[in-house]
Amino acid sequence: MNLRKKLMVAPGAKVRLKKFDPAFRGDYGSAEDARKELARNVARLADLQQKLYGEKKHGLLIVLQGLDAAGKDGTCWHVVSAMSPLGTTVTSFKQPTEEELRHDFLWRVHPHTPGRGQIAVFNRSHYEDVLVVRVHELVPKAVWSTRYDRINEFERLLADSGITILKFFLHISPEEQLERFRQRLEDPARQWKISEADYKERAYWDDYTEAYQDLLEKTSTPHAPWFVIPSNHKWFRNLAVSEIIEATLDDLDLKLPKPTVDLDRIRADYHAAVARGPADADTGGKDR
Ligand code: AMP
Ligand code: MG
Repeated sequence: MNLRKKLMVAPGAKVRLKKFDPAFRGDYGSAEDARKELARNVARLADLQQKLYGEKKHGLLIVLQGLDAAGKDGTCWHVVSAMSPLGTTVTSFKQPTEEELRHDFLWRVHPHTPGRGQIAVFNRSHYEDVLVVRVHELVPKAVWSTRYDRINEFERLLADSGITILKFFLHISPEEQLERFRQRLEDPARQWKISEADYKERAYWDDYTEAYQDLLEKTSTPHAPWFVIPSNHKWFRNLAVSEIIEATLDDLDLKLPKPTVDLDRIRADYHAAVARGPADADTGGKDR
């Protein structure tokens, strides 16, 4: 099954999240069935990233959004970790600081976008400015409602600068969220993830759903598409996200750059050095 095609929100399409099954798992019965496929994707990602890093023609921006416990961090641990820290950054966007609030909403975001050769992951993003901000009316509607256009323009600017953009909405059911909250309460290794806001935000589920539907409809564009990732099964989420990133990088036809030096001359230097033998230990080779 082509997950990229199946899970992409077609630009301009009407979105009713009720119609997307968060427990969907494609043709796979269990995590075990998908294990080989995930391992293959992860290995391919590492290989493709080396080419992206070497070629420095394209950059990749990955946006992760979802309600609390949807698996944004988990996706970083399991999928993004396939990429080398050498060419990857992850930025987690929290409540804006006072200084950030004195600027336009994209001011704090822009410096974290990737350059060509880099992969940048946003764990939450500028989309919070049409999500939590909208749901809690942190600014008037007249302000947040203009932001969809600003976001599309911003992403267009990035795309025109060689940045490929993939946006993942990690879709879970309310029951699955409650189950994950329960696990967090009971498992000492997960208790640190609990926040005061978690249950309070749950009460706004329908408002968030509406806000998500709206942004999926307004900001899924050919140059920066959204994908609704069924995320009740963590293994399927990892599989889908890794597959979409892999297929997208594959399409870029990335090539390792040609050497910038005269290889024949360097080879001659090399052979001359071999003929001279090892550097003298006493002089540290300074007299050669
Ligand atoms: P977490 O990702 O669970 O660590 O929580 C980060 C919190 O910061 C979430 O409650 C977000 O809704 C909040 N947040 C992120 N960006 C913004 C924003 N632009 N305005 C207000 N709250 C935000
Ligand atoms: Mg949280």
